[in-house]
Amino acid sequence: MNSILRKILEYNVKCPVCGRDIRVEEYLYNMPLVGDVIISVGKCGYCGYKWSDVRLAEPRGPRVIEYRVEKPGDENAVIIRASTASIKIPELGVEITPGPAAKGYITTVEGLIMDILEKTQFLCSEPDAPIEECRRKIDLLDKARNGLVKYTIIIVDPEGVSAILSDKAVIKPLEEKGKRV
Ligand SMILES: [Zn+2]
Repeated sequence: MNSILRKILEYNVKCPVCGRDIRVEEYLYNMPLVGDVIISVGKCGYCGYKWSDVRLAEPRGPRVIEYRVEKPGDENAVIIRASTASIKIPELGVEITPGPAAKGYITTVEGLIMDILEKTQFLCSEPDAPIEECRRKIDLLDKARNGLVKYTIIIVDPEGVSAILSDKAVIKPLEEKGKRV
């Protein structure tokens, strides 16, 4: 197989943790079934913060992507989540909004659930974490991971640079949100 990752750009960004410069390298990746994807990576030499983002090279316009996970195999769909997109999973009480340190990544549905589960477990290990709520949330995420509950992944993508690679993914223009009943 040929290498399909090509470096296209280098630039500095401010580290969202310590404010120093991070050298970011940007790569163009021709992804099967998707087309060109831009991946940017860098690491803060001072605090170790890892910068990462990913986006479709050709923006598709503000949009909402909905993907229903309801049967074995659905968890294998690949997700391209740009750092500017929000993720909601209403059935699991998950809402991830992009902050200054938000990262973009390519993962699968399963990887996303694992990541959310790990972060929830970490937050719930804090001394002042709400024990009951934590227990309920972790239990639900655990069931989702094991395919015992059905859920919907909703990506709200104001730039149109995220994607869920599946014929089952439903795409709506972002403007329609709120108008629908
Ligand atoms: Zn830093």
